[in-house]
Amino acid sequence: MVRRALLPLSAPPAWVLLLAVVAAGAPARADYIDHFATRDDVGPLKAPSRGDTRVLVIPVIIDDLPFEQGDEAAFLADVDGFFAADDGDLFTGGFSFARYWRQASLGRFRPVATVAPPVRFARCPPLGAYADCAIPRGAGVASGDFAGAVAVLNDSLAFLHEVLLCATAGPSRERSCTDGGGVDLAAFDIAGLTPGPDGYADGVIVVSNAAFPGIALPVQDLAQNTLVFTGPHPDFVYDGVAVPAVAIAGRARRPQRQTWVAVHEFGHLLGFADLYNESGAATDLPYSVMGGWYYDTAAPLLDPFSRVAVGWANVIQASGPGRFALASSARSGMVLKVGLGDEFFLVEHRRRYPDVLDDDLTVDAGVHVQRVRLQRRPSPATGFYLSTLQSCVNCIPFDSLTMVEEADGRYDLQQSRPRDDAADLFVAGQALVPSDDTAPRSTSHPVFSSNRLDGTPTGLSIRVEPDDVDGAIVVVDAPAVADPCAALAGLCDHDCVVDDDGHGRCGDFGTWPPPKASPRPAEAAGCAALASGPGTATVGVLLVGLLPARRRRSRASFAKACSLEQPVPARNR
Ligand SMILES: [Zn+2]
Repeated sequence: MVRRALLPLSAPPAWVLLLAVVAAGAPARADYIDHFATRDDVGPLKAPSRGDTRVLVIPVIIDDLPFEQGDEAAFLADVDGFFAADDGDLFTGGFSFARYWRQASLGRFRPVATVAPPVRFARCPPLGAYADCAIPRGAGVASGDFAGAVAVLNDSLAFLHEVLLCATAGPSRERSCTDGGGVDLAAFDIAGLTPGPDGYADGVIVVSNAAFPGIALPVQDLAQNTLVFTGPHPDFVYDGVAVPAVAIAGRARRPQRQTWVAVHEFGHLLGFADLYNESGAATDLPYSVMGGWYYDTAAPLLDPFSRVAVGWANVIQASGPGRFALASSARSGMVLKVGLGDEFFLVEHRRRYPDVLDDDLTVDAGVHVQRVRLQRRPSPATGFYLSTLQSCVNCIPFDSLTMVEEADGRYDLQQSRPRDDAADLFVAGQALVPSDDTAPRSTSHPVFSSNRLDGTPTGLSIRVEPDDVDGAIVVVDAPAVADPCAALAGLCDHDCVVDDDGHGRCGDFGTWPPPKASPRPAEAAGCAALASGPGTATVGVLLVGLLPARRRRSRASFAKACSLEQPVPARNR
């Protein structure tokens, strides 16, 4: 599910739809990668995303294959350093698996990863027609080899089952691994929908020197789908604990890091769908760890909708005109929701933290305006994820679940042109406003406005006033909203309250208050970081050669946001 996946994303629609239809006969409202259309299915289809959890990381070493890191010792040191490091916070300790998720969730989700003793094989078993675990995009379906793709999936499930047996019980006469064992899977089940064991491991990640694609597989669900998969069908239960899904990161070429790929893949275990443009019809969605991240810089934060959907954001619903001080997302979690119904805007302030977070930003900071269209959210119907893979949520320009409203109004991303943060993030003086042009928006008619996709005016204006690296003032003009908490229904994972100012709030503002407004920083401070950052960087994709490598634009000037007029107050009023 990540760039270029093992699951046959380009499979004939007919068999995918067939699967989906058959699966839809099962009890509804429980689905993998539905982007939290339901939150009730933690355990069988989603990893827990609240509280303390345990994540098992299994290094799989293939003796006859090389290591991205140079040798086995360096590979294991890399894996251990990234997954086991969880002291301190992201900003002081640096980018690591545990610190990333803790910060992205504002401390609401606290995974602790443990690296298991390596599971070792002399060589990869054949996976379908492929040796060395090097499975190409679509596993042959694109060339019409459907039976071959099924064989790949069957063999992959069998191999993952063997990996899990080797990690828990160790080598035996029936297994081809030569090393491994000692994992007590029960120690990795401490949470479910509520704290405490639920019979499902909280999260399992495989990292390997084999050239696996980056992918997350709902192994238990797939193995139970006897319609297509020929079996044998392992149950993926070990000593009474089930492994419902596995995130996999194989060897990646520098500057990409396979440990970083695992962060995105783990996002799928939590429930997030891919937000990049799998179809190639538009540029990958920036500003999200589930979107256009190329694993060569410290991870982007999740986009606002993803953080709202999982329940990690502090959300404010504008109940009408207002002036909002948004402290930077990563620390405050603040997301401003403007608009109602199934199509609305989420506004946040994003900031680059070099080598730590959002390091792919080419500006120091800016205001990100995201359009959300719930019509394109995956259905929570059981088994629908196969359709989500086939018809990815952000794969049709404009007609997508989420998109970036670009401050320059050019909609370059929708037209497959390169990302340009300096032009696309809003800074002081820029605004998204209604348009008199009420024709539907599309690639051939890219109207810059707050009108709906079908052209209907919303009456919404979103304007950025002063902004700096710590936050921004966002001025909203909007029709009055009688019940702002009703407007957050289904999006609040916390109680919603109507604040003194009449706007709705849900989240945990008390525990994680937005940082106090710092006095306006010395002008050079925000801009100096730019000079020390990387210059141009070659950007590839995970499975090299499947998409053309792209060249990122040079870091753009951040002069606009580096000149502030006034400090940013901490709270909106
Ligand atoms: Zn993915």
